[in-house]
Amino acid sequence: MTVEKKTALLHIDIDSPKTLLRFWGSEGIPTDLESFYDRAMDRAVTFFEKRKLPVTFFCVGEELVSSRAARKWIKEAFRKGHEIANHTYTHPYGLTTLSESAIRVEIQRCSQAIEELTGQRPMGFRAPSYDVDEKVINLLEEMGYSYDTSAAWNVLLPAIKAYHKIFSKKTVTREFGSGSFRIPKAPYFPDANNWRVPQQSPRKILEIPITRSTRWSLPFYNNFHLSAGPIYRNCSFSWMGHGQIVYLMHLIEFVDMTDGLPDRLAVHPNVKKPWRSKCDFLGETLDRIMEKYEPVKTLDYVRHYHEA
Ligand SMILES: [Zn+2]
Repeated sequence: MTVEKKTALLHIDIDSPKTLLRFWGSEGIPTDLESFYDRAMDRAVTFFEKRKLPVTFFCVGEELVSSRAARKWIKEAFRKGHEIANHTYTHPYGLTTLSESAIRVEIQRCSQAIEELTGQRPMGFRAPSYDVDEKVINLLEEMGYSYDTSAAWNVLLPAIKAYHKIFSKKTVTREFGSGSFRIPKAPYFPDANNWRVPQQSPRKILEIPITRSTRWSLPFYNNFHLSAGPIYRNCSFSWMGHGQIVYLMHLIEFVDMTDGLPDRLAVHPNVKKPWRSKCDFLGETLDRIMEKYEPVKTLDYVRHYHEA
């Protein structure tokens, strides 16, 4: 593989029903983490094994500690060759509003939970709701991380935020990150004083932005494709000209309301759609992506980026 070749990095954020209920302002409703991990991970691991595609799972450390099923399935995913990365310990919304020591604890404890499970320290990070700043990026680098993939922006973000504001019961601090239209579309070495701009000289940590379309900066990720449907998906493919993409999925997209999710979660886009039809739709999307792009493990991509 060379970085000049078109590469696709496949990412799954593990936002459990518990985490998503907090996002929608309904903390404290009981959820069954065991059955969520058992069902969703079984389907996801089988799905990607069948297609021989490597995925990076972004895990919440606290759930690896508290859930037997989470441990079992993340270990299984690692054993099957998938990458395990850090999505913080407690999935706090508004990571950048925390103190430096609290951010360090969020990163470190998740790192530890993953290393205890797999024997390998994670090297990649994504912030909850894509909320990063220089403080987080510089800390990650100091702690030995080789990439962050929280830079996110697309032209419909204001509308997506408005939807969230209407349907969530309370405002989540700094939801949907601190990116802007200036966020680069291609991976870059973030400036230590302003992470939103690339610095000329290489550094240890690489920022890998979440993909938006080359033309018009429109959303290009699974949950949006599911909401907007096949016509938008077709168009969005013709607006893509990147040499590298991240295709972002969420584990919640592998379950539906018949899997025992709390009623309140019906507010989240696409959870009411049957999981089988969502998997079929995702399968078509990935087939389409693989016509143009080569699937690559995120860490392999990062290593080659440094060597190039
Ligand atoms: Zn998340």
